[in-house]
Amino acid sequence: MTTTSAVSFDIERIRADFPILDQEVNGRKLVYFDNAATTQKPVAVIEALMNYYRGYNANIHRGIHTLAEKATADFEASRRAVRDFLNAPSAEEIIFTSGTTMGINLVAQTYGRHFLKAGDEIIISGLEHHSNIVPWQMLAGEKGLTVRAIPVLENGELDMETFDTMLSDRTKIVAVNHASNSLGTVNPVKEIIAKAHAVGAVVLVDGAQASSHLEIDVQDLDVDFYAFSAHKLYGPTGIGALYGKRALLEAMPPYMGGGEMIKEVTFEKTTFNDLPYKFEAGTPNIADVVALKTALEYINSIGKSTISAYENHLLTYATEQVSQIEGVRIIGQAKEKISVLSFVLESIHHQDIGIILDQQGIAVRTGHHCTQPVMDRFCILGTTRASFAFYNTIEEIDKLVAGLHRVKKLMA
Ligand code: PMP
Repeated sequence: MTTTSAVSFDIERIRADFPILDQEVNGRKLVYFDNAATTQKPVAVIEALMNYYRGYNANIHRGIHTLAEKATADFEASRRAVRDFLNAPSAEEIIFTSGTTMGINLVAQTYGRHFLKAGDEIIISGLEHHSNIVPWQMLAGEKGLTVRAIPVLENGELDMETFDTMLSDRTKIVAVNHASNSLGTVNPVKEIIAKAHAVGAVVLVDGAQASSHLEIDVQDLDVDFYAFSAHKLYGPTGIGALYGKRALLEAMPPYMGGGEMIKEVTFEKTTFNDLPYKFEAGTPNIADVVALKTALEYINSIGKSTISAYENHLLTYATEQVSQIEGVRIIGQAKEKISVLSFVLESIHHQDIGIILDQQGIAVRTGHHCTQPVMDRFCILGTTRASFAFYNTIEEIDKLVAGLHRVKKLMA
């Protein structure tokens, strides 16, 4: 058994669970360091999708035949798995969405549209992904609201002193990410939530990045809404979940109208279904919901604390090694980070870095990472971002470092 110095899991066995990793790209063994964009899928998840379509594909909830009952049972079992994953009080507070983006838009267009009025304020942060900026701006434009952003300090942490001064009785929603996709910063969401609640605001946390790295406990956080995407969690694309506190979800109007979300329909009047179905109009993404449960079971079988210990070990090593390359500037040096390493390299454009690394089989992401305000804050156009998962290795980081030396040589 091959163990790493940081943790005692068998990295070779884990890598064998991810068939995509065992391939050559441009004549070199693939090094996949684009995990913050999307993670790879273990065989168990791929098989869950296949088993569903081969064995019991059927529409859920309304059918009384055997296949429909099995599909419904697995779909609802996945909801309970998400409840456990987030430590939510009940499965009715888990709404399946297409991902984090839909979760945020749902809250903006139901809670936000229904409860906010002209003059109210929404506080986001300077570290947000565009999907936690634009939905609020769209709502603000329509309703005469103000969107304000918590500034970002030089080390990539939020300026919490300024946040304190921004809060007032005009603040109605605070929407921040748990961890930043472009810099890796883990935000003090528990403190943000407590402070926002003290002025009567509700808080949405964008958990797209944190959910694969950190333990999430929505009750301990006392968060009002928590959104995540399955594809960043070793699950399928096009599926995610939104947790919302029952009292808020019950008070909110539905998001989309259609089948499933109703109790009774006449041409005069429609009554809406109970939670969570009120927010799940139409035939959902059944296969991917079923496979999300498998992804969560896979993560649980390794354990979040083992995962984060190993990923921290990778991040620390990568940070040490990459910082030693002359001309490198690491963007984002928060005390607490998920395994994201963003950097710029002298006068070399990030796109050139990405292309030359790809020629060596190394997949990184380059550009603004859907966080243009972060790039503006640091007066850069973009970064090169290497983001690590538990199937990555120290040897792969050595290849990245060698790859960057090659970039410098070629671009000199
Ligand atoms: N928020 C953050 C912090 C993200 O990293 C992402 C995905 N890059 C999103 C939101 C949007 O997630 P999705 O595209 O899966 O809806």
